[in-house]
Amino acid sequence: MVQNRWNDAEAQKFVDAAGDDPADRELALRVYSSRIIGQDLNLVLHGGGNTSCKLKRRDIFGHEIDVLHVKGSGWDLGVIEAAGLPGVRLDNLLELRALDALSDEDMVNLQRANLLDSTSPNPSVETLLHAFLPHKYVDHTHASAMLSLADLPDVENVVKQIFGDRLVCVPFIMPGFELAKVAAEVYDANPDVEGLILINHGHFAFGDSARQSYDRLIEHTNMVEAWLEKTSGQVPAPATGGSGEMTARAPDILPMLRGIIGEANAQFTGNPDMAMPVMDLRNGDNVQTFFKRDDLAALSRRGVATPDHVIRTKNYPLHLTADILNGGRAAVKAAVDGFIAEYTAYFDENNARLGGIKTMLAPTPNLAWIEGVGVVGISANAKAASAASDLAAQNITAMTNGEACGGFYPVSPQQLFDMEYWSLEQAKLGKGKPPALQGRIVMITGGGGAIGLATAQAFAALGANIFLVDLEQAALDKALDTLGAGHGGVALDITGDGAADQAMAACIARFGGLDILVSNAGAAWTGEMADLSDETLRRSFELNFFAHRNFATAAANLFATQGRGGQILFNVSKQAVNPGKGFGAYGIPKAATFFLLRQLALELGPAGVRVNGINADRIRSGLLDEAFVSERAKARGVDEATYMAGNLLRREVEARHVGEAFVALALSERTTAHVMTVDGGNIEAALR
Ligand SMILES: [Zn+2]
Repeated sequence: MVQNRWNDAEAQKFVDAAGDDPADRELALRVYSSRIIGQDLNLVLHGGGNTSCKLKRRDIFGHEIDVLHVKGSGWDLGVIEAAGLPGVRLDNLLELRALDALSDEDMVNLQRANLLDSTSPNPSVETLLHAFLPHKYVDHTHASAMLSLADLPDVENVVKQIFGDRLVCVPFIMPGFELAKVAAEVYDANPDVEGLILINHGHFAFGDSARQSYDRLIEHTNMVEAWLEKTSGQVPAPATGGSGEMTARAPDILPMLRGIIGEANAQFTGNPDMAMPVMDLRNGDNVQTFFKRDDLAALSRRGVATPDHVIRTKNYPLHLTADILNGGRAAVKAAVDGFIAEYTAYFDENNARLGGIKTMLAPTPNLAWIEGVGVVGISANAKAASAASDLAAQNITAMTNGEACGGFYPVSPQQLFDMEYWSLEQAKLGKGKPPALQGRIVMITGGGGAIGLATAQAFAALGANIFLVDLEQAALDKALDTLGAGHGGVALDITGDGAADQAMAACIARFGGLDILVSNAGAAWTGEMADLSDETLRRSFELNFFAHRNFATAAANLFATQGRGGQILFNVSKQAVNPGKGFGAYGIPKAATFFLLRQLALELGPAGVRVNGINADRIRSGLLDEAFVSERAKARGVDEATYMAGNLLRREVEARHVGEAFVALALSERTTAHVMTVDGGNIEAALR
């Protein structure tokens, strides 16, 4: 059941914060109820809903005008503010109803031309439907239960059975002018209804107040949930897919599929350096139960529960059965090739129907159903992959509930195509040149430390998805907090048995693979060689050499599974080439790591794997903390600032400079076996 989250005290807070203008106070309630709708994943997922209200304002001449405030494109209902509900002059929108036809371009232009604030985002593609309904508040969602209902073969009878005359059905039409007109005609013929069921699409509820409209939205949804439960004899599954234990097969299958799709995308775009996609795995109880069905093959061909899913998930998932998986890489590649051929045929056929005006999107899958592994969203970056997975999980829910209650029959392939290639839908995905490292998956060991975090931030700033590895859970959590959403990590001791494989598996579970390993973690043990115990030196070797070696090897194996190259970046150290007194225990394994870098560059080059490193010196970090800086400065008879700037440039070198140097190496596409020095200049430590 969907919870009614309305709270008078909370609502009043929004009204109080809005100031004295009565229109702003009405809008504040619209903001409040939009948020409680948007925060419930069972009601709204990724743009699948919009809200509006109608009120009176004065224009700059003092004339009273009718204004429609409707959700603006790019805003998430769950966190929406007044600015996300741009105001449009209602009279001019209403006049459009008299027209017989209106092109999408003219519709968008008219909506923009009637904005009260010309800097507002584009009003929703469903603006005219909101405008043509007379109610003060209008709420529209694609709730999971409503999608199960809207995709039933006998939806009209069921709506009558559940709601009597309270709701009425509108036939399926693409969003835009025509749907708005037809919906308004249906409403005019049934002026006492509390809402509309848009067949194969979703639900509208409306009312005189924000509260009334919201209450109806929740009540209608729960009436459908109750009907689904009664009819199927089981509680409807929730919308989310959840994450369960990763199955033993996932660490091999996901990187392999990622490489195959990456290769196909590179061929399609003609760009050999094209990034591989990012993946998002869901394998909670719902998904596992769903995969036990014996009609999966048929269901995989039914399409999406509401048409706007198609822009994120494509029309059908790539369905990898146990049989295909048992056939190994060749069989999986054949399945992907089959998907591409079928998608291309679907494009060609429908594009011909439209007169050949469309350009095909990459024909590779955005979604995979992998038996024994889970549902996997596949996209250019982690955020989009996660959105695809969320929608896929909701689709599974709508399918499961619908099939148990009469059948799941969403829109036809032609209608899906029209939606997928509708310019107003594609505009939701955003345009512009993607950032240089969009979707690159970067693992950083020692990710909670100063240099690790600065490196993570430098990569993330260029669109990379970061996976941090750190010994300390607290440091890891803090670093992930600093990075924000879309990144991941695992806390483990990188010198432990099997640690590298464990870290790779965790990264695969989060993102599907790996592109760049920054092998950064290190620590210094001090003491002059004559006094140094074997035990100390061996401990230093475990961290400062063997952990680098184990992570590099595990990354190289993962890169081989993907088959599309990769990168390994080592944090070496000035100590590897320019010994400091008492730092032998640190410098000797680092010198071995320096040699390892060259050895790996030699051996992995033919597979397209680049191996580079940084020699940094005198950076404030866990290695060189405040007490140590102060002690070293004192020993040299200078103040701390002079000590930290003791280099040719006379400037302190900071962790961020190291991070930026790692990024520079990552971007340098024909550089391997190279060590870049980041120390402000030190002739004794200069390599050549
Ligand atoms: Zn909609």
